[in-house]
Amino acid sequence: MVLIYMNEQSLKKTLSKLNLGSVRYFDSIGSTNDEALAWAARGARDLSIVVADEQTHGRGRLDRKWFTPKGSGLAVSLILRPSAEQRPHLSRTVGLAALSIAESCSKLGLAPRIKWPNDILLNGKKTAGVLIETVWSGEDVDSLVIGMGINIYKASVPPVELLQFPATSLEDSLEKDPPAREEILFNVLKLLIQWRERMGTNELINSWNELLAFRGEQVQAYVGGESPINGELLGLESDGSLRLHDAQGKPVIIHFGDVSLRLRA
Ligand code: ADP
Repeated sequence: MVLIYMNEQSLKKTLSKLNLGSVRYFDSIGSTNDEALAWAARGARDLSIVVADEQTHGRGRLDRKWFTPKGSGLAVSLILRPSAEQRPHLSRTVGLAALSIAESCSKLGLAPRIKWPNDILLNGKKTAGVLIETVWSGEDVDSLVIGMGINIYKASVPPVELLQFPATSLEDSLEKDPPAREEILFNVLKLLIQWRERMGTNELINSWNELLAFRGEQVQAYVGGESPINGELLGLESDGSLRLHDAQGKPVIIHFGDVSLRLRA
């Protein structure tokens, strides 16, 4: 297995072309989101980021594990301090991140789809995931942490027996070597910074909608431990929740939470 190390200096140099807060880089860390949450709570500047080459305790939703073996993927957490204008639209943050990752894959000639709410698929397999966490100040949002895990090289794909859903990497999908990880990160962050300025627009919802996986298909939405909701996937509501039509043609709105979507067999 070839390990391609991330070089901190070249990472910081590449990212210096963006208007970020501060950048913290780790060869190895428990979880970039944990580091970013603690940093945000201590007052990190807007658009500060934590990047790691390896996560030993990377997290998905509900404390499920996210794998980031050394030298193989991108593990990044971005701190957002929302402006007054962005505050009414915070429920769209997962879409903001998923859309930015997906569009950066499109720029490489790939055909990504967003499996609502938080996964990016290539050829129907998971290649990236998003985990949004919040730092509260009383009842107000102080800041948001956008965790992004992106599988770049083949070695980032976890063993099949550990997965509930098939996984892949950019290297698997491209017919050539992927660009350096810092270049990919640069593109994702650039798109995210641009989309953030349009967080409340229909354009964001429309672009997210266009990339949704399973549109027009019969899906099952598993919400918590309940029996699944079946229906045809129609698209997004303006707050980013998901609209299905059930078997009787009645609209069903699925809100964010512990939801897993599957195509109906
Ligand atoms: P899900 O989308 O499956 O409901 P999460 O979004 O919380 O769950 O992601 C965590 C799950 O993703 C893990 O339980 C594991 O099955 C899978 N997983 C972990 N690491 C990776 C990875 N690097 N690539 C693809 N899938 C992964």
